[in-house]
Amino acid sequence: MAIIVQKFGGTSVADAEKIRQAAKRVIKAVENGFGVVVVASARGKQTDQLIADALELNPNPPKREMDQLLSTGEQQSVSLFAMALDAMGYDAISFTGSQIRMITDSAHTKARIKSIDAERIHQQLDRGKIVIVAGFQGIDEHENITTLGRGGSDTTAVALAAALGAEQCEIYTDVDGIYSADPRLFKNATKMNEISYDEMLEMASYGAGVMHPRAIEFGKKYDIKIHVRSSSDESEGTIITHEVPQMEGVIVSGATIQKDMAKIGLVGVDNVPGNAAKVFAHLARAKVVVNDIVQTEVSAEKANLSFLIDISDLPAAREAVEKIKDEVNCQSIFIRDDIAEVSVIGVGMRSHYGVAERMFSALAEAKINIDSITTSEIRISCAVNKDEAEKALDVVCIAFELDKPAEQRNV
Ligand code: ADP
Ligand code: ASP
Ligand code: MG
Repeated sequence: MAIIVQKFGGTSVADAEKIRQAAKRVIKAVENGFGVVVVASARGKQTDQLIADALELNPNPPKREMDQLLSTGEQQSVSLFAMALDAMGYDAISFTGSQIRMITDSAHTKARIKSIDAERIHQQLDRGKIVIVAGFQGIDEHENITTLGRGGSDTTAVALAAALGAEQCEIYTDVDGIYSADPRLFKNATKMNEISYDEMLEMASYGAGVMHPRAIEFGKKYDIKIHVRSSSDESEGTIITHEVPQMEGVIVSGATIQKDMAKIGLVGVDNVPGNAAKVFAHLARAKVVVNDIVQTEVSAEKANLSFLIDISDLPAAREAVEKIKDEVNCQSIFIRDDIAEVSVIGVGMRSHYGVAERMFSALAEAKINIDSITTSEIRISCAVNKDEAEKALDVVCIAFELDKPAEQRNV
């Protein structure tokens, strides 16, 4: 029996009517002969609410307890989903992450999946049941509940699709596909029919919250086509898939902003072997995810080192660099907590020139100062002041004609 994984995001299970609507999609797939595995997120804004509840009691809650709390949002959704299907005459069974042995590492609030026991799900599918799995959560090897990071239910879905050998993985959400930019921020963004894993991974890693980055990594590694589509209409969405030669014809496919970033600079570190390793070993031990590392030699004796982090990691990162400061003979530490990053992404950049110039000129004309610049083969990112981030996104989208369908762009 062919298996399909269908993931429903928070807005798609927000109330009883939405759950019934989602259940109808599931039933349609069952009637089409699929074994269906559903992954559900917490309802509506419930994860935000749980975080607020925690912060009301403790401004710096222990991460293990945070995961214990946050995982309950998804648990509610899956049991309600199973009840809805039962009321509609279909046999369903819900599982938490721990019940399907979704084993992760112990990095609470941003754990990574290590293995999944697909057997229990297969057994239930073989018995004719619809299996509903709580997204976003797992357990570590000491049976502590972990969560995968905000938006992590996407990763649960794609990882399950890989573990089960599913034929399809559908991500049902509140937009009808992947757009050239977040349509909430850039109103005239255009929808893509398909996008390569590499571009989507860069977009997701640099702020396009529509997909969790790890989900794309799993999709690419295990060759899972991911169909991102609307839970409220039947239209075809966007397929995330392997790159095909035509994709290179589009120079810039999308633009993103990542707000809520902080920058840490270590000024005047001793320019000797091993110092960068020491700094990043401390940050890794503190489980801080680091982006956009820049090191520059300023003299034969000294170097400056800077990097960006998510603002939520700032307390841990600050503590880590304070600890290592003297050991690397750092003259001063420089911290900014008002950084955002604007990025343009496209596989076509590999074979076209002038992209950087166009981006920097657009920002210059809008009088937006660029704090730092980083690039990959298919991405250019500029760190800017947080207050100017949305304006920066707007001017960059216009400069690359992201308001037009890809085939009509002249840049
Ligand atoms: P879900 O709860 O279904 O997982 P999310 O809120 O995580 O939904 O993701 C959907 C949202 O992602 C959209 O409402 C949209 O505002 C945002 N988004 C950001 N970038 C993009 C993009 N490039 N294309 C489509 N949506 C995007
Ligand atoms: N409920 C979690 C969140 O809001 C996970 C998810 O929705 O994917 O981030
Ligand atoms: Mg999401």
